[in-house]
Amino acid sequence: MRKLIISVVLLLLLFAVAYGLSEISKSRTFQFFGTIVPRVETAEKLVALTFDDGPTPQFTAEILNVLNEQGVKATFFLIGGELEKNMEEGRKIVAAGHEIGNHSYSHTRMIFVAPSFVKDEIEKTDALLRAAGYEKQAHFRPPYGKKLFALPFYLSQNNRRTITWDVEPESFPEIAKSSEAITQHVLDNTKNGSIILLHVMYDPQKKSPRAVKPIIEGLKQKGFRFVTVSELIASKQ
Ligand SMILES: [Zn+2]
Repeated sequence: MRKLIISVVLLLLLFAVAYGLSEISKSRTFQFFGTIVPRVETAEKLVALTFDDGPTPQFTAEILNVLNEQGVKATFFLIGGELEKNMEEGRKIVAAGHEIGNHSYSHTRMIFVAPSFVKDEIEKTDALLRAAGYEKQAHFRPPYGKKLFALPFYLSQNNRRTITWDVEPESFPEIAKSSEAITQHVLDNTKNGSIILLHVMYDPQKKSPRAVKPIIEGLKQKGFRFVTVSELIASKQ
């Protein structure tokens, strides 16, 4: 009987630890090492628009056009493996003056991964970003927002920040269904210093790509000014 109780208690503890680690691995605001930035505390009406994944030949030109017409600089978190295939698109994003972030090479969930894997994913992508003409140090955004030990440790050792987000319309299935709902969610939830996450590189129905222009116009109307993630971070100091 005693053995059984001990086994049950141990099992429960194990579940509790596993649950805790899973919650931490997907937290937008906490990690074990280094700095994580889900938004920036500022009194100014500043906002950063960020795009994850790609680049892809299907959507890059269109999104760059909208940003250019609106006079907005955004931050693109690019995947090394995609950049390698679509270097021309990568170069265009860099040449248009947008900020570029490192979004890993293979877009793998980086939890319970070896330090050498983390290093390889980040360094390989950095080299490709340089090949695309990007010379600044790129911030890192974890694929699926997932990180646990090795990733934040490596980033903190190299004085690099983890960038997450505080506005994510596509995470709600009802909202992700239409461009109008995506736009409305962003307009309702953006605060001073917010970091907005959108995926515009693989959306055949273009719900998110079509939301970019109305989001920019709507936030401008509310008095917001668009800056890159680095500019947003600098505004705090
Ligand atoms: Zn991603």
